[in-house]
Amino acid sequence: MAPRGGDFIAKKCTTIAIVNQKGGTGKTTTCENLGIGLAMEGKKVLLVDADPQGSLTISMGWQQPDELPTTLSTLMAKAMNDQSIPPGEGVLHHAEGVDLIPANIELAGLEVSLVNCMNREKMLKQVLEGAKHEYDFILLDCTPSLGMLTVNALAAADTTLIPVQAQYLSAKGLEQLLQTVQKVRRQINPKLKIEGILLTMTDSRTNYGQQIDNLIRGAYGSRIKVFDQTIPRSVRAAEISAVGKSIFQHDPKGKVAEAYRSLTKEVMANAERQLKRVAERGR
Ligand code: ADP
Ligand code: MG
Repeated sequence: MAPRGGDFIAKKCTTIAIVNQKGGTGKTTTCENLGIGLAMEGKKVLLVDADPQGSLTISMGWQQPDELPTTLSTLMAKAMNDQSIPPGEGVLHHAEGVDLIPANIELAGLEVSLVNCMNREKMLKQVLEGAKHEYDFILLDCTPSLGMLTVNALAAADTTLIPVQAQYLSAKGLEQLLQTVQKVRRQINPKLKIEGILLTMTDSRTNYGQQIDNLIRGAYGSRIKVFDQTIPRSVRAAEISAVGKSIFQHDPKGKVAEAYRSLTKEVMANAERQLKRVAERGR
């Protein structure tokens, strides 16, 4: 596809990869609620389920992802075969104002076939090329591994948001993840930034919870931004994947909705600062 306007049109889309190779750290929950939070602020938002488990797809109400005719793997297969992707193909529309490219188990097979493909790290980037002109934010819900799919997400992203479950400090895992980000930055995507570490499922009422919070800020705070806003643990948050709604619908007055609302504002402010910086440099 020919570039539309090329580099001289102002860049306005921010692509955020939500990544941690550990499962259960709140990636999918953050992707859904941050995405819908941004849409509530008037932003055009595309969520991309980049996990063969299809958890985001299910959580947003498409309970049978295996029955969907077109998913991310369909689109990535087209990119691999150098076929064009019509705008909007495979995109689902959620009642709360965000769009979704869903995923199902076929994405696992696609990941394997990427190995022999030319430009294999950049297939997701290619799939999203057109969407960048249509949306203000694209959020990528990554699979819990540092394999090809995650590398594709990092290659397509402007920035990464790292949810870390504040239960115990998985320092080794985090180091490994930061090394992967470094490597992608050096070899594939020099502009990749780290948006920040987001502490999830926190429990500030206990001493232990507070200690973990301090520990992570102490260990990483000097190198990487750790979001001031943390996401508290709440049963209401755990329920949303079953109801196909965001926390803003399910428990609008609760502390998790409040937290995601405030995270949304922090992410928007960062993106605006960043886009301004890029625009100034371009002048
Ligand atoms: P990941 O995508 O990193 O595997 P999920 O977002 O699926 O993580 O969250 C893992 C589990 O924890 C899910 O069952 C989810 O419902 C639950 N969960 C997520 N955030 C919260 C929270 N703030 N409070 C309580 N449970 C949560
Ligand atoms: Mg997930």
